[in-house]
Amino acid sequence: MPTLPSPSAKDLNLLAHAGCQTDATHGTLVMPPYFSSTFERAEDGSYPHGNVYGRGSNPTRQLFEKTMAEFENGEEAAAFASGTAAFHAVFSALKSGDHVLLPDDVYHGTRVLLNDVMQHLGIKFSTVDTTSINAIEQALKPNTRLLILETPSNPLLKITDLNAVISFIKGIRDDIQILVDNTWSTPLITKPLDLGADLVLHSVTKYLAGHSDLLGGVIVGHNAEDEFWQKVKMIQGVGGGIMDPFTAWLSLRGMRSMAVRFQRQCENAIEIAEWLESQEMVERVFFPSLQSHEAFVVAQKQMYWPGAMLSFLIKDGNEASCLQRLAKLTVFTKATSLGGTESLIEHRASVEAQPTRTPQNLIRVSIGLEDVESLKKDLACMLK
Ligand code: PLP
Repeated sequence: MPTLPSPSAKDLNLLAHAGCQTDATHGTLVMPPYFSSTFERAEDGSYPHGNVYGRGSNPTRQLFEKTMAEFENGEEAAAFASGTAAFHAVFSALKSGDHVLLPDDVYHGTRVLLNDVMQHLGIKFSTVDTTSINAIEQALKPNTRLLILETPSNPLLKITDLNAVISFIKGIRDDIQILVDNTWSTPLITKPLDLGADLVLHSVTKYLAGHSDLLGGVIVGHNAEDEFWQKVKMIQGVGGGIMDPFTAWLSLRGMRSMAVRFQRQCENAIEIAEWLESQEMVERVFFPSLQSHEAFVVAQKQMYWPGAMLSFLIKDGNEASCLQRLAKLTVFTKATSLGGTESLIEHRASVEAQPTRTPQNLIRVSIGLEDVESLKKDLACMLK
């Protein structure tokens, strides 16, 4: 079993204490979830604890936001009901006529939101291969106001050189917000704000919460004074797509064990990716730490660990034959999503909105915490 380096002391300590804030009344170690929808005013009409109404702010959500801002080395965070609700708030901060540039294999739900909802409100968008600075330069428009980067991408695990792309954009334009969807990497692998990004977004649903039992989203801003960030923060309260207190509490609880959990998931994924590459029925494996990955060098520089998501192509596979093979699995669960303790597997093209760019013989896998030999045996049975 490969052994990866431990996270930094700062991250280990932050995560081990996530959600721990001594309660002044009872001395409890872990902050309880505060469910109150409203807060009492003092006699002089002031709000002594700063909270007015639960949509605007809530102590449990605030603790989650503060923890995420620290984890991503940002100044402020805003938590939402899902990763998609977080994207909705960012897009709502744009003006009619603004253009969004996004990766050509961006998470399909992000493209659907732009295509089916935001486009009708006048937001323009186009896609580009963000692994090529040339292509990005060609795709930029005078009205481009937001560039989304997602690395590794979903489901082809393309790696964008964040440092190179962000430096390039910041060198030629000061009117474009750069947002990195860091869901797959998490701050344990990459910290995009340190590389100059303006915003980082997560589907908290995945590795941060880590147990496939909630939906959540968060955006972290690098500068609390930035005008665009303040608009996103305003939309959080006014739009109302907020993370509820129990979800914030569960997310913090999930984060307390995230460092060890995610490290082991990445170690399992390395072993499985290398093993898959040696299998006759496998045409190609997409995983950042494989030397065969086209951006292996960038991944080595940018990613502290390679992550726990991988995809592979089955030789001569199509939707029907892939689904037949998946039906043989007993350890993997056949479901969409990622980041939980259980390994998930899916025929990706049939999950995505049509038309899809995903190859019909592509299988996407989220590696969990099971015994790695059992996972390999399961896959071997499927590939027979
Ligand atoms: N971003 C990425 C990379 C995702 O994989 C997902 C969901 O799978 C999302 C955003 C959307 O998050 P949610 O499902 O929490 O809305």
